[in-house]
Amino acid sequence: MSVLLGCIADDFTGGTDLAGMLVKAGMRTVQMIGVPGEPAGDDIDAVVIALKSRTSPVEEAIGESLAALRWLQHAGCRQFYFKYCSTFDSTPQGNIGPVAEALMQALASDFTIACPAFPVNGRTIYKGHLFVGDILLSDSGMRHHPLTPMTDANLVKVLQAQIKGKAGLVDYAVVSQGAGAIRARFASLKAEGCNFAVPDALTNDDLMAIGAACADLPLVTAGSGVALGLPQNFRRAGLLPENQVADALPPGGGLRAVIAGSCSIATQGQVAAMRDRHPAFDIDPFALARGEDVAAKALAWAKGRIENEPVLFYATAAPDAVKAVQAQLGTEKAGRLVEDALAAIAKGIVALGVGQLIVAGGETAGAVVKALGVSGLRIGPEIDPGVPWTTAITGNAGEKPIALALKSGNFGAPDFFLKAWSKLAS
Ligand code: ADP
Repeated sequence: MSVLLGCIADDFTGGTDLAGMLVKAGMRTVQMIGVPGEPAGDDIDAVVIALKSRTSPVEEAIGESLAALRWLQHAGCRQFYFKYCSTFDSTPQGNIGPVAEALMQALASDFTIACPAFPVNGRTIYKGHLFVGDILLSDSGMRHHPLTPMTDANLVKVLQAQIKGKAGLVDYAVVSQGAGAIRARFASLKAEGCNFAVPDALTNDDLMAIGAACADLPLVTAGSGVALGLPQNFRRAGLLPENQVADALPPGGGLRAVIAGSCSIATQGQVAAMRDRHPAFDIDPFALARGEDVAAKALAWAKGRIENEPVLFYATAAPDAVKAVQAQLGTEKAGRLVEDALAAIAKGIVALGVGQLIVAGGETAGAVVKALGVSGLRIGPEIDPGVPWTTAITGNAGEKPIALALKSGNFGAPDFFLKAWSKLAS
């Protein structure tokens, strides 16, 4: 069966959010890093293509998004989803409006929604105004964002400034009456010449109603919240089984390792907890700067240990130590040296037989994923909120699949590196 829902996310972590949401809602999901070179795999209900188009020049964002759309169309998707930030990060030039309009044109569609609401994270919309917790978006820290300062909370106005078409509000009085009323309001907005409906949303129930009302729209544009309400449409249409286990990963096995390049507080605690229990190799940025082959030393050290128990490679250090390194080497150079070393270690330990790998740190994860040639991730069971196990897609048929957990620096409980293994079927 072909893929049902094809998603285009304007950044990587946003894509991860959306993919996690879809898995929880019962859709088997993969997240691809950029537009894939290979065709979609089997047994997948949703694909999220993660771009880096949030703040790129408008024409570039449109070009990449259209390329992603073509790939998703080729994969047989029945509906498409353009995912942006729940704070509607954009400028008067875009990229949300222009990308949405380009996708609509390519799909020959003249109507969609724009809804960044994500109530569980405090993003709600009332009278078209986006709230972040208890305050308007324009009073939140987002008004000082270096790239996309949001100084107006009125989403209808913000979107209108970015589009050639027309935007209109679906007021809470309508949304609270459910999917039928929302659909009727869509029809009257369309009759008034609107191409975009901005629905109010205060709760997950509202998102479910909005999702149901969007069943027949070729394109939905939203934060990750609205994704909660879409799988039910496919179930109603008989395209998605009830009670499907969506987070099962192929059995993997192999040796276990953790690579930590994050110095965030949560990671520091997790590194300390693992160091108490398992062998750990400390990466010294000064040794890297002296030109020592630290990765080769780490790999030689790992032999004879990694066969018996999980091992840790870490550059994680306390703030004072990091400052001292940065003062001497420069922040960027220190970061690059450490990332390169950790990426080389990742390649080396996979060659030694590691099949279950946790990587801590956003930049670090990016470097490791690149070194391992990972083009996508099949989303599996969650270890802690926001961090699932995944299976790496490498495009190299016949290679043993690697289980990867990519942990953002500040995510996860102190015992994350200790308990994560038990969530994997071996
Ligand atoms: P987080 O998700 O916590 O932000 P990242 O991996 O994104 O983690 O960023 C951490 C950055 O700090 C990386 O560039 C990494 O190479 C760098 N780094 C890690 N350890 C050290 C250290 N001891 N000294 C200086 N820089 C370091």
